[in-house]
Amino acid sequence: MKFSRLATYYAQLEKTSSLLAMRRILARALKEAGRNEIGMACHLTLGEIASQYSPVNLGMAGQTVIRAIAEAFGREMNDVAATAKKTGDIGLCAEAYASGEGTLDVRTVFTALNEIANVHGQGSQDKKIKRFAELLKKSSPLEARYLARIALGQLRLGLADKTLLDALSIAFAGDNTLREALEHAYNILPDISVIAETLARKGRKGIEAITPKIGTPIQMMLCQRIKTLDEIEERCGFPVTVETKYDGERVQAHKDGKNVTLFSRRLENITHQFPEITEAIRKLPSRRTIIEGEIIALDKKGKILPFQTIMQRRRKHNIAEYARKIPVVLRAFDCLFDGKSLLRQPYEKRYAALRKIVKDGKTLTLAENETCNTAPCAESFFHTVVKEGGEGIVIKKHDGSYQAGVRGWNWIKWKPEYLPKMRDTFDLVVVGAFWGRGRRAGTFGALLCAIYDEKKDEFLTFCKLGSGFTDELLKKIPTMLKAVNEKPARVLAKDITPDVWIAPEKVVEVIGAEVTKSPMHAAGYALRFPRFLRWREKKAEQATTVREVKRMAKK
Ligand code: ATP
Repeated sequence: MKFSRLATYYAQLEKTSSLLAMRRILARALKEAGRNEIGMACHLTLGEIASQYSPVNLGMAGQTVIRAIAEAFGREMNDVAATAKKTGDIGLCAEAYASGEGTLDVRTVFTALNEIANVHGQGSQDKKIKRFAELLKKSSPLEARYLARIALGQLRLGLADKTLLDALSIAFAGDNTLREALEHAYNILPDISVIAETLARKGRKGIEAITPKIGTPIQMMLCQRIKTLDEIEERCGFPVTVETKYDGERVQAHKDGKNVTLFSRRLENITHQFPEITEAIRKLPSRRTIIEGEIIALDKKGKILPFQTIMQRRRKHNIAEYARKIPVVLRAFDCLFDGKSLLRQPYEKRYAALRKIVKDGKTLTLAENETCNTAPCAESFFHTVVKEGGEGIVIKKHDGSYQAGVRGWNWIKWKPEYLPKMRDTFDLVVVGAFWGRGRRAGTFGALLCAIYDEKKDEFLTFCKLGSGFTDELLKKIPTMLKAVNEKPARVLAKDITPDVWIAPEKVVEVIGAEVTKSPMHAAGYALRFPRFLRWREKKAEQATTVREVKRMAKK
């Protein structure tokens, strides 16, 4: 395909503001490009000379392009610079001088631009200018307009990769029926030239058969959010894996033998910025694998440092110095490829693959998580995470596939800011306790608390209180409470039985988000997200009453 044809289409695109018209114009252009040049035409149309994640960079700045124009047309630099200033557009400036016949073809242009990008080292600017000037010399005014804009990364035809995918569907199916398949394929392999060439050569079947390729990033899956943790049941069904949501840098690590590439959430190649992570991935026992996780920075005591700290590692220079200053670790949470694609596999299977590959080491460990069968379990994990400075939790559906590039329901995030404002405080009677796990092993991890029914003189369970305690306090709690062998007669419980019953004597002040109806608790209501404030010197019978709670309850 002649580059001049592509330039004519670009001129048409520039004149239209209708997306529909744009898609049609593009579809015509892509069809005309044919199977051998369609990939290159797609890249050029996006104003790029390689896929977005590749490190290829033309390396030409405004002055370099001006020098190339001057050299190509035998003009003074000042002259060209004045035209550029007057037109306010490097494209129109180049167009003003060009007078070639338009004999370039798409392949020649694409190859030449890639050659220019590959010139490095001493004297590279002069070589780039010379090579670019040769192209300009041969180009027609319209071609020169777009060449100069592409060189400066200013093509700006007003279209995105999604528009191109739509245009591909129109070009090959006549309508948008291929759109979904194309988008899906592009999420797995976000290289527009591979997608376009596969479609041109093998049609829909080829597109549907596209699988991940190690070294090409997969668009990352994102999380949906819910209004209340009770929604987990409906959205995912239990059990689910509840995992710490780390506030760091998402990374997708590709390993092919000894070759390791790290991609950021925006699919940039960030390998050289994190040498310790690259090294840890290189040592994994799998030969060909893709895993995902979050890079976080830790202080000397192992406490997670804020996101801003890790951003200092995003640099081109002094990498070794900063790697020493701000050491980072990777918390792995998914495996997308292990010898073969695992994208369609349920989370459970992908996680099993991840566990086989990642053995806890210094730099690389699995993200902290827990399997939960109930919303309160997720809630209690959430509180522990937040207490330790985590950003929140991610809830992972066990039979959910990896939905590349999709913000779907297979992952759900839950953060403290989603909680309704903490409003009310309650004085609750401790009637039971649960043994702690993990760091809280050997002491109580949560208390069962009740409100008082003054009519019947009974204590009705109302919430499980597991957050707001310091470690010191937790250790002291067993000595402060009177454990009894059986449920005390005045205590009413329903679907919740503590590990240890406690005589209803101690009153605790608790702050909570809201009161909701609950079939689990004897009160018929529950306090959501309760947090310990302090012990009260009150009698149990002076605790918050059923009547008060009913008044506060959301209708
Ligand atoms: P937010 O601003 O809430 O982080 P976001 O738009 O950046 O939202 P989301 O899809 O909402 O992204 O959340 C997913 C992000 O959470 C991922 O991109 C990843 O960086 C981060 N993350 C941290 N820990 C985990 C984890 N255990 N599992 C999945 N993602 C995690």
